[in-house]
Amino acid sequence: MQERYQPLAIEEKWQRIWEDNKAFRVAEDGGKPKYYVLEMFPYPSGRIHMGHVRVYAIGDVLARFKRMRGCNVLHPMGWDAFGLPAENAAIERGIHPAKWTMENIAYMRDQLKKMGISYDWDREIATCDPEYYRWEQLVFIRMLERGLAYRKRSSVNWCPSCQTVLANEQVEGGRCWRCESEVAKRDIDGWFFKITAYADELLDWCDRLTDWPERVITMQKNWIGRSEGAEFDLPVVGRPDLKVRVYTTRPDTVFGMTYAVLAPEHPLVDQLVTAPGEQAEIERFRAEVLKQSEQERVAEDRPKRGFKLSARVVNPFNGKEIALFIADYVLMIYGTGAIMAVPGEDQRDWDFAKTHGLDIIETVRRPANWSGEAYTGDGIKINSGFLDGLTATEAKRRAIDWLVERGLGEEKINYRLRDWGISRQRYWGAPIPVIYCNACGMMPEKEENLPVVLPHDVQISGKGGSPLASHPAFVSAVCPRCGGRARRESDTMDTFVESSWYFLRYCSPHYNGGMVDPDAADYWMPVDQYIGGIEHAVLHLLYARFYTKVLRDLGLVKVDEPFKALLSQGMVVKDGAKMSKSKGNVVSDDVIREKYGADTGRLFELFAGPPEKDLEWSDQGVEGAYRFLTRLWRFTFQHREGLVSARSDPLQNELSIDFRDLYRLIHRTIKKVTGDIEERFHFNTAIAAIMELFNALSASAQDESKLDTGAPVIRLGLETIIILLYPFVPHVASELWESLDHKTSLDTVAWPKYSEEALEDEKLLIVVQVNGKVRGKITVSADVTQEQIESLALADPKVAGFLDGKKVQRMVYVPGRLLNIVMEG
Ligand SMILES: [Zn+2]
Ligand SMILES: [Zn+2]
Repeated sequence: MQERYQPLAIEEKWQRIWEDNKAFRVAEDGGKPKYYVLEMFPYPSGRIHMGHVRVYAIGDVLARFKRMRGCNVLHPMGWDAFGLPAENAAIERGIHPAKWTMENIAYMRDQLKKMGISYDWDREIATCDPEYYRWEQLVFIRMLERGLAYRKRSSVNWCPSCQTVLANEQVEGGRCWRCESEVAKRDIDGWFFKITAYADELLDWCDRLTDWPERVITMQKNWIGRSEGAEFDLPVVGRPDLKVRVYTTRPDTVFGMTYAVLAPEHPLVDQLVTAPGEQAEIERFRAEVLKQSEQERVAEDRPKRGFKLSARVVNPFNGKEIALFIADYVLMIYGTGAIMAVPGEDQRDWDFAKTHGLDIIETVRRPANWSGEAYTGDGIKINSGFLDGLTATEAKRRAIDWLVERGLGEEKINYRLRDWGISRQRYWGAPIPVIYCNACGMMPEKEENLPVVLPHDVQISGKGGSPLASHPAFVSAVCPRCGGRARRESDTMDTFVESSWYFLRYCSPHYNGGMVDPDAADYWMPVDQYIGGIEHAVLHLLYARFYTKVLRDLGLVKVDEPFKALLSQGMVVKDGAKMSKSKGNVVSDDVIREKYGADTGRLFELFAGPPEKDLEWSDQGVEGAYRFLTRLWRFTFQHREGLVSARSDPLQNELSIDFRDLYRLIHRTIKKVTGDIEERFHFNTAIAAIMELFNALSASAQDESKLDTGAPVIRLGLETIIILLYPFVPHVASELWESLDHKTSLDTVAWPKYSEEALEDEKLLIVVQVNGKVRGKITVSADVTQEQIESLALADPKVAGFLDGKKVQRMVYVPGRLLNIVMEG
């Protein structure tokens, strides 16, 4: 029938069948092992391109493979639908963010369907739906009650271009993560989630997430940034009422302290002023420092600026008076906002000491050929009083004990992690359900009034703060306590709040009794395999882990962690850069699909390399994938008639020798492909093995005269190829399967099993003669070479006994049967 491979027609046909039958819809089923595979949901920014396709193709391979393996597979899709680009589109083009978002969702949904990704579309969610965000408003209120959500004035990262607050995690090198504008500082009232309350648990669990990539775990640990050290007081000379509390991770280096530093914004600074005119100079210095971002202040390659105060402090360990500075490289938000400076063992202190002509004392013996500046390694303590001779690690402990015994200080653990600022002065986000009453103060909205719905009719100009703040009907509220007139919070939540629990909502997307149906969550959670880009190694993954723990403590879920295993797929690279709209190197998904079909696009991206590595776009690679599918198509239709009448369960020992190798290769391929997908996610080598099997199959089928006896094996081989290819190229595989007269859809066929017995090499018994007389027998695999047989024969102890140390003249080999060793003389 079909002479030509016509991917578009086939793909449309199967997509309609999947859609009509709701082929991938699932429900809880205690009789099957569950498998929850999830790709990070997309932001509906417009179009999916081939740089995006990879993650969905990877997820789909696993979903389809696990279904064939007998699992009850949850594979959902939805939309991270709130966020800035929608609002920017509104500002630039006058389109309402809701309209822009929903149009993009419609287009992208259609693209994903045309890619043949096997989602349970009944579970689709969009986070901008009030039926979605109402639940996070409720959780917000619960968090508020428990002190896990709180409001405070703080100095925030402000993107002047996006006109919004950015979390520390959203500032990269002093620039906005989204628009790359330079980030400024602003004091502003805002809402925070107390992620620091979970710092220890988040850190502890890092070591239990054994199916996460090592580098993601390392990034999370560094972000949490737990450090152990000591906190103690430096008395201020001549001011018995004042002490400077410092934090250090290196209490072993206290004898190298040659000065101390306060953050310029430290509240103690103003009390320390004694010299006339000093206050004015301090103010001038502070103003300079405030122009820099935190990132710039602590950057290692910048000159360290400081201002020496007239006040001096005392090092309690040796009683020496030292200078006290304010300097830009010390931040109020870390530790106590004050440090002891040990230039010998800290590079930033070293740089500062050099600039300001301060003493540098080495307190750790340098390695023999040391030629650097500050030395941060371990070693034997020197110039350190009672710590001399100890290792740095021992001295650290001893110094802390010394402080504690004298009541001068304590052991202290610090974190780099800050609470999560979730307030955004933007329109297109979930409203924060809080009301301010002049009489009663701040309080949560009544639960029965949830959701607090985002109003549709707003003016979005991009200027001067939140559009909601100037929407009178939204802002005006009734006080839940006194019933008087009150003002509604106009900040919206960071969109990372929505992405912190969407995976839970998928478990019961239509449940209206709460955020998640407890039974559904118990059944499906945690996500067995999560897949997404490395750019989310910190932000999204840490927030989602935190939020899950909060929900657990609120009694909403039972799991401690949301994602059991994580796969961070590499980027799709073209012309030396990540494929992205802003780089202008995008290959359109639509163009590839219309020219070659979705299966070809999928096959190329899955075949081009292992998923965790970057993938280089290659037009030839796409052509190659298309050619392979075309060859498979032609082969199937060329032999179809002969094969459908053949049995497909050949008996191994009835096979002629010509087909025994092919039979063995079929089983070996099943074994390899199964392991490559399940254990290693090495889809590329799995596909390569299937292609090899196809080559062998084509070669075996060339000799028409043998086709009669070989038909059962050829049929088995072809059907195995089709089944093994199904997770990668589901449309063409389904069509070929049907063309071989199968009445049930390939979607319901089980993954093939290999037989251990069939894997084994065929054995040959070789008779060994010496000068024509039988002297021994050796057993060898059928695939060994003549040279290997010869050396095995010579090494055989029985045969060796007849060689008498004489020289072998020549050897005669009758393939598969006999080796005659002819001796000299
Ligand atoms: Zn920005
Ligand atoms: Zn009130």
